[in-house]
Amino acid sequence: MKIQQTERTARIIQEEFGNADFVDTVMHLSITNDMYIHIETFGGGVVFSPQTEDRHRPYYAYMSEMFEIRRKLIESGEPQISVILPEPRTDTNILAFAKYIQTDSPANVAILYIFTPLYPVASTVSILRTQLFYIMIISLVFAFAISFYLSRRITKPLREITSSARKFAEGNYDVSFTSGKYTEINDLANTLTYAASRLDKTETMQKDLMANVSHDLRTPLTMIKSYAEMVRDLSGDNPDKREAHLNVIIEESDRLNLLVGDILMLSRAQSGFLPLSKSTFNVKNTLSNLLQSYDLYCEREGYNITLICDENLAVTADQEKIKQVISNLLNNALKYCGLDKHVIISAKQVSDKVRFEVIDHGIGIPESEIQKIWERYQKAGANHVRSTTGTGLGLSIVKEILILHNARFGVKSKPGEGSTFWFEL
Ligand code: ADP
Repeated sequence: MKIQQTERTARIIQEEFGNADFVDTVMHLSITNDMYIHIETFGGGVVFSPQTEDRHRPYYAYMSEMFEIRRKLIESGEPQISVILPEPRTDTNILAFAKYIQTDSPANVAILYIFTPLYPVASTVSILRTQLFYIMIISLVFAFAISFYLSRRITKPLREITSSARKFAEGNYDVSFTSGKYTEINDLANTLTYAASRLDKTETMQKDLMANVSHDLRTPLTMIKSYAEMVRDLSGDNPDKREAHLNVIIEESDRLNLLVGDILMLSRAQSGFLPLSKSTFNVKNTLSNLLQSYDLYCEREGYNITLICDENLAVTADQEKIKQVISNLLNNALKYCGLDKHVIISAKQVSDKVRFEVIDHGIGIPESEIQKIWERYQKAGANHVRSTTGTGLGLSIVKEILILHNARFGVKSKPGEGSTFWFEL
């Protein structure tokens, strides 16, 4: 680098030679580059020497070196030469450079000498090395501090989340996951808290269901067992009694079947495994079809079902499931229709929807119970008692099916005046 710098300086001096501010330029180059510059004609006449400008520098600063490099330049026959010479006075080396340059008169060739001290690299290196060492220590301390800080900020909330998750895994759904200062950790904590609350709810629901279902399953099973024992021990030989007892067994089995079917349906709907197969169907045909299966029952029991429906109403929905909804509502209406034994089913166009209504004039539902009847095993005005007909799941199934259809639904009811269950497709 030093040699290159020297050669560059020499080129500038050659170019500037003869300019008015030549001396200033050379002085400037000499000072800024820490170079001793001397120009001499071949015959020994001084063209430029620092002495002429700077009285503090001895003229003969590099006298002996100048002789030596001059000799080498002439011997080598090259246009320029640079050598490294020892400098015994300061115990360093100097770079000595010599070059022929052209002066004003073509015959007059001058020699440019440049001497520049080569400061020992080793000392620079050792300075840098100490500095590097300190820089490294400082950087390490910083790095440790920052990573410690960051890891605490990240790992602390993660550790808390882990310990909460462990409790969570052991079945304690009441845990809350504390969030940290980072969005990702917050998201994780919130998601886990949400999962915990959902699981908690599901588990409560499942416990309730199990308790109620097992109660409801046990009753018909007990009946079936005791009647079967009666047939075996007592009524086996008496055809009339035997038939009556066997009928009870058959009825109870049917109930059991109904119950299991409802439970299955409900749990499928609630877990989202109840696919809808939608089609567009005529409302009146569907309703009349459904009512046909009630004909015999109504005639025997004295019920009266009125259907009010326009001829060409059509809806797009899952036909079988809508039939189930209507028959669940109809069963309830028949059950609670009271003395007039009259139930009205109506379907009419209301703006772009078809509004279905199942109307009875029976006992009605008290205001306070209206919200609850849609929950499973809810009975208006009573705790869980075994219903003589129905499974206690009817309205929950209605609700799930209508939710799957995104349908609006509800009930209007006044105790003693009757109820109107409605939904819109
Ligand atoms: P259940 O099998 O007990 O009828 P549901 O879910 O079908 O079960 O009904 C829940 C409760 O809502 C009923 O037990 C009853 O108290 C009330 N309910 C339903 N429909 C009617 C109605 N048309 N009139 C009066 N009460 C009703």
